[in-house]
Amino acid sequence: MEPRRPRLTPLLLRTTIAGSLPKPAWLAEPKALWAPWRLDAELLDEGKRDAMRLVLADQEAAGIDIVTDGEQTRRHFVTTFIENLDGVDFKNKRTVRIRNRYDADVPVVVGKVARTQPVYVEDIRFLRSHTDRPIKATLPGPMTMVDTLYDNHYRSREKLAREFAAILNQEALELEKAGADVVQFDEPAFNVYMDEVEAWGIDALQTAAAGLGCKSAVHICYGYGIKANVDWKRTLGSEWRQYEATFPLLARSKIDQISLECANSRVPLELLELLKGKDVLVGAVDVASDVVEGPEQVAATIRAAMKFVPPDKLYPCTNCGMVPLSREVALGKLKALAAGAALVRRELGT
Ligand code: ZN
Repeated sequence: MEPRRPRLTPLLLRTTIAGSLPKPAWLAEPKALWAPWRLDAELLDEGKRDAMRLVLADQEAAGIDIVTDGEQTRRHFVTTFIENLDGVDFKNKRTVRIRNRYDADVPVVVGKVARTQPVYVEDIRFLRSHTDRPIKATLPGPMTMVDTLYDNHYRSREKLAREFAAILNQEALELEKAGADVVQFDEPAFNVYMDEVEAWGIDALQTAAAGLGCKSAVHICYGYGIKANVDWKRTLGSEWRQYEATFPLLARSKIDQISLECANSRVPLELLELLKGKDVLVGAVDVASDVVEGPEQVAATIRAAMKFVPPDKLYPCTNCGMVPLSREVALGKLKALAAGAALVRRELGT
């Protein structure tokens, strides 16, 4: 199928999501991270494609401007990508502490890592042929990848991150060719290992995005609404200032867009000023709560962020992925996000 002509999108306050959406219960166990698939072989492939159509229709009906595949083809935003690479043993997993916060069963790097085949390129081609809206492809960032595995080969986070950056770049360039308008790298680790961000994290991220003609983005957050993250956030004090160290580095980088968490968070919004000149994806929907925001609540977050980011560079977004939520709650939040942005757009007279 030929790609359709791009639909006209609003020029101000274009809405998008961080990436993931809940999967249908017939495809994977609901409300769980690393949820096992409920289908096999060809039925699983068909199920994943059907799920992509469903989440695409949900985003379009809600009024989201820049849509994603809802990460319906992956069990996890990091490990699924790693498991598609050579040099990785994902049958004999190891339990490691990730993000300095919680234990997870992760793949083991046992030799030189290499990408011998495309990972998500077919998914983006599928998405491109089923919508006329701009689409965003999401990938894990290099630092978050090294933080979500056991390395039995390189024994250096930096060395392995640089290997992954080159591999991600191959995938990113092919995703662009397949029709992605934005390629986003998810780097929640950027809120944890601040020294590494400065030493090699930003550089590895730029390698991953090198040569992209479409927009490049990085998503940095305080994680899904799981207990370990909620407990961690309680230790961060009355103001969360992790972004203060990262944003000046990103402002000087070649990355076009920065996605961050603003809804129900203790991030001082004046930190957004540090991103002058960049597109800012403002999290205006909380993913750590089942309470669906009202459009007015979303609008209030957008208005507060607009003191620091002009509306043509402000993209109302979710705080993080919505995969651990119920479908009903996630759909409600999609609608609230679009309705809240529309409210503010009307106030601006557009
Ligand atoms: Zn996130």
